[in-house]
Amino acid sequence: MKGHERLVAEVRVRIPELSPRETLSLQARGAALIDVRELDEIAQGTALGALPLGRGFLELRIEEAVPDLTRAIVALCDSGVRSLLAADSLVRLGYTSVYSVAGGFARWKAEGLPVEVPVAIDAVARERYSRQLQMPEIGGAGQTKLTRSKVLLIGAGGLGSPAALYLAAAGVGTLGVVDNDVVERSNLQRQILHTDARVGTSKVVSARLTLEALNPAVKVIGHETRLTSTNVDEILAGYDVVLDGSDNFPTRYLVNDACVKLGLPNVHGAVMRFEGQVSVFWPARPRGGGPCYRCLFPEPPAPEDAPSCADVGVLGVLPGVIGLLQASETIKLLLGLGEPLVGRMLCFEALQGSFTELTFQRDPGCRYCGEGCPFPGYIDYERFCARTAR
Ligand SMILES: [Zn+2]
Repeated sequence: MKGHERLVAEVRVRIPELSPRETLSLQARGAALIDVRELDEIAQGTALGALPLGRGFLELRIEEAVPDLTRAIVALCDSGVRSLLAADSLVRLGYTSVYSVAGGFARWKAEGLPVEVPVAIDAVARERYSRQLQMPEIGGAGQTKLTRSKVLLIGAGGLGSPAALYLAAAGVGTLGVVDNDVVERSNLQRQILHTDARVGTSKVVSARLTLEALNPAVKVIGHETRLTSTNVDEILAGYDVVLDGSDNFPTRYLVNDACVKLGLPNVHGAVMRFEGQVSVFWPARPRGGGPCYRCLFPEPPAPEDAPSCADVGVLGVLPGVIGLLQASETIKLLLGLGEPLVGRMLCFEALQGSFTELTFQRDPGCRYCGEGCPFPGYIDYERFCARTAR
């Protein structure tokens, strides 16, 4: 027996092996599946949900990927030999529950178990996103998630502009933009997607020009229409997160109600004069759903009590601050990082330079997100002025 064969035989005594099917069920119960092949092998395809760690950096990266030494880890390679040796290293690092997939990815594929082909991060993308890729919380796996993500921006105005720019810059793969307006010169003080030369042009067209110039890899889908009860389901379908930058109550309530119905997180922002607020409304959040907009404000105010930015003005920087907080919340949601502003509203007051956080609970009697209540249908609050400045 050759040296390496003897080593593998010794390790096989210490490391329990699982079939691909046993691995799948352990993975469903919370085990981490790690692919220890070289990254160019992983790029051809891997088991669904496997962490692409690569044998070369395994010992350096595993503690960030799996900080809990008691969590079960299953190592996967091509045929089940390298994964045994990798698993042995993990035991030496202190992991207490380590397995290896017998037969490796070859057997996994042969048994028809779910696979995925990671989005290739080419040289241009590697350079573009290098500051994100170097953070272990994001890395290649996170960047791939962003590339596959779809975010719908309600409005290409004061809030949507900064949010869209940074989401495109970060590499969110698909950005939908809903807007029915044309660029006006009075928009340019804060709606930084647009330019003076584009006054009179559709905001959706202008947004696409700016975003594609910033990052040609991003797909921009224009929805050049006003959101109504008849088109909202169709427009929101297929997106992962909705970023509400609308400036009027009819749209804000419609977006809330549709997000409740479709189970989507609604990243809310609003601004006026020197103040702004941001929150995440997400009753359907797995493990810890929060309130919806109607839990706070069950019905819109009377139109005469609802001044718009067109009536009272807004400091141009304000939607920049709030729109970027919305972008930050959106990226956290897409990556599953940190603690989203669910059940919390962050309020910014520019003159004092202060942030205040309000917490609020879900209303069990909420007509839209209350427990077990059937969806009551959409309401078009037509009494309101449909178009105000953002
Ligand atoms: Zn609610």
